[in-house]
Amino acid sequence: MTDEPSWDSPGLLEARGKAQEKLHARAATAANARFGRKVFLRAVVEVSNHCRENCSYCGMRRDNRALARFRAHHDKLAELLIHHRPASVTDVNIQAGEDPVVVREVVLPLIRTLRRETPLGVSVCLGTLNAALYNELRTAGANIYIIKFEIADPKYYAQMEAPGRWEERIEHIQLLAEKGWKVSSGFIAGLPGQNARHLLANFNLARQLPLAGCSVSPFIPGESTPLSGAPTGGIDLTLNCMAMLRLMRPDWVIPAVSALNLAGPGSGYRRGLATGANLVTINLTPAEVRDDYLLYKRDRFIMTEERILAAIEAEGLTPSRQSLDEFYRGQVGRSTEERAEAEVVAG
Ligand code: SAM
Repeated sequence: MTDEPSWDSPGLLEARGKAQEKLHARAATAANARFGRKVFLRAVVEVSNHCRENCSYCGMRRDNRALARFRAHHDKLAELLIHHRPASVTDVNIQAGEDPVVVREVVLPLIRTLRRETPLGVSVCLGTLNAALYNELRTAGANIYIIKFEIADPKYYAQMEAPGRWEERIEHIQLLAEKGWKVSSGFIAGLPGQNARHLLANFNLARQLPLAGCSVSPFIPGESTPLSGAPTGGIDLTLNCMAMLRLMRPDWVIPAVSALNLAGPGSGYRRGLATGANLVTINLTPAEVRDDYLLYKRDRFIMTEERILAAIEAEGLTPSRQSLDEFYRGQVGRSTEERAEAEVVAG
């Protein structure tokens, strides 16, 4: 028996001061007990800002006519990821607005190239597609699908014009898991009009879904969106949600998202690492298109390898040599590095 409050105890969302320190320390201890001091380290490449959705909170929404739209090129990304990726990266996440064209023209060939030429695990975050495209992505070699449910309350989801229909988003999460994908989902904390009931509904939905991981991102008012004048989601609220998620599911992969830096300038990201996160992401999107991948504002806080490694070290953590892909496949024995060494020895 423990006298610690359970993850869903009333008041944890608002915890501050000593109570908050205790909550975050418990989350870090839970992550440590399951994953040790290791954090997974992946790269993200953002390959298209075309989007057929119109989410009120997102700068890439289709009604944002001020945005120059781009699609990245296979050869450039392949060159970057095969020959110039940071040594610490074990996985790559290919992310885009909801753009089936880029999936067919760039993402599928890129996944095949990466699986052939590198030991990288491949995640994708491409929105709601269709069963045939999901199968093609799997066959090409991607195993992890990141698809946030965004908002658990169907009415509020519709009000925020979140992607497609709520029911469809949930069905797709279930379909992906049934088809063997490791699915990571997530929600936004601090959206305008969000209350404690909405937030608790997010936890309840997350634990009912067949997930391998889940994220919490602070709401960042997006440039040229209907919510551009709304306040930024609170860093304390976001971190408390991360801690509660970790206590709810010690076995999940929970990322420290780069937006923690915007919600908590100077300390938000490191605080995320100290609150049970076990995945970090280095942004490798080519500089010339990066600013047009507009979730929030043009002036982004880019997580470079240097910044990420410094934050990890400062929190007494170390980069995992095992890829997320290997972790999910249950290959606990050998890391990417050890496999690469074995391949060299085997000639
Ligand atoms: N189109 C894909 C999808 O719908 O999953 C992936 C790209 S989408 C831009 C990636 C994520 O950005 C969304 O799941 C959403 O949660 C997040 N996002 C967009 N605008 C945001 C904002 N203003 N604040 C916080 N998160 C935001």
